[in-house]
Amino acid sequence: MLKNFNEMLLRARKAPYAVGSFNVYNYETMKGVVLAAKETGQAAIIAFGAKYLSNMSLAGAVSMARTLCCEYGIEACLHLDHCSGIDTIYRAIQAGFSSVMYDGSALPFAENIANTARVCEAAHSCGVSVEAELGSLAATETSHEGSANDREAYTSPKAACDFVRESGCDALAVSIGTVHGLYTARPNVRIDLLKEIRALVDIPLVLHGGSGIPEEIIRDCIRNGICKINVNTEISAYAVEKTKELLGAAKAPHLAVVAENQQQYVKDVVLKYIRFFTSV
Ligand SMILES: [Zn+2]
Repeated sequence: MLKNFNEMLLRARKAPYAVGSFNVYNYETMKGVVLAAKETGQAAIIAFGAKYLSNMSLAGAVSMARTLCCEYGIEACLHLDHCSGIDTIYRAIQAGFSSVMYDGSALPFAENIANTARVCEAAHSCGVSVEAELGSLAATETSHEGSANDREAYTSPKAACDFVRESGCDALAVSIGTVHGLYTARPNVRIDLLKEIRALVDIPLVLHGGSGIPEEIIRDCIRNGICKINVNTEISAYAVEKTKELLGAAKAPHLAVVAENQQQYVKDVVLKYIRFFTSV
């Protein structure tokens, strides 16, 4: 059964460790995440971005996730990642997603609060968890989540406190120096800012931009309240790189072989991050 992330994240924060939220785009990527969760015995958040709806419908993602989680006996949450359309969020809840992220980070503060509160009311009545975002992450060229011109705006601790109280969200994505996409230099992650936010905000905090963050920064973030970390770009980048190698072989492989290998590539990346996130 798919679960919301509330219990998973509170358990992680107490330990502490972080639950990985891994983006999937099709059956191969979803199975790769499930295989890694099975191998490590960890719960997984399977994240499906609203922008990949041309690959897979909401109902398709739900039935695939339900089937795979049941087949492999893993604890999982199916989470709609970065969605700014409230109608799409309602449709995802109706389809059976167990968690959603309403991304109103580009909106004025009051509008972000009002919309997040509306989403929370609908989601909570169905047992669905809600992640919201305050502040905004920069994006590098490799990002699939925003444009390369996305401007960084750090999350204000005071605003975060008001936002959480008034919106009723279950987890908050914060902007503390990570970026969407692969890093071109060592990230300057503001642990001082995270500490200030954590002192004022009692719900689980989420870090986006997990692809390629150095392990010691991940540990610092986890020790200071981050208990969900999103990984997207590296899953795609690594699987595409390995697929190119596979296709470069003298004899072209059958498509079924390509698909099976892609499950393994995704599993490899996810395993690496689950181990980072749980070895604090
Ligand atoms: Zn993100």
